[in-house]
Amino acid sequence: MIRTIIGVSLVPTRYKVRTPTGEYYVRCGADLLLNAIGTDLEAEAKCPACEGIVRFRVTDTEIHELRPSTSILHVVETRMANGRHAVECEGSPIFDKENCLQDWLDGYQGKPGSIFKPQEFLDRMISLRGTEEAN
Ligand SMILES: [Zn+2]
Repeated sequence: MIRTIIGVSLVPTRYKVRTPTGEYYVRCGADLLLNAIGTDLEAEAKCPACEGIVRFRVTDTEIHELRPSTSILHVVETRMANGRHAVECEGSPIFDKENCLQDWLDGYQGKPGSIFKPQEFLDRMISLRGTEEAN
């Protein structure tokens, strides 16, 4: 079965996932985690502030081996017309540490977002999805 990769990009990006079906670039840090809801994967990203590498593995929606453990996401969430939840990728990178997030925020002029640890964001998306499917 071929799964759809959320946010897949045909050109290389800072964000890469490896799933049982292959390796894909995706558009943002949030996409790395959104894909982890449906499949186990390995993720690798580059911090947009310092180019530091962020890595983790997801098994059954649990994040393992998060390196560095200080990695943190900034996410801009929106509601689509049909009420479903979406993220705006331009405002949703992943950083290797809090200082990088702060540096990036100093120059950020997009929509205000929220800050999550990777597991927090994954858990939040799983609970939102449950709500949407119930509706
Ligand atoms: Zn950094």
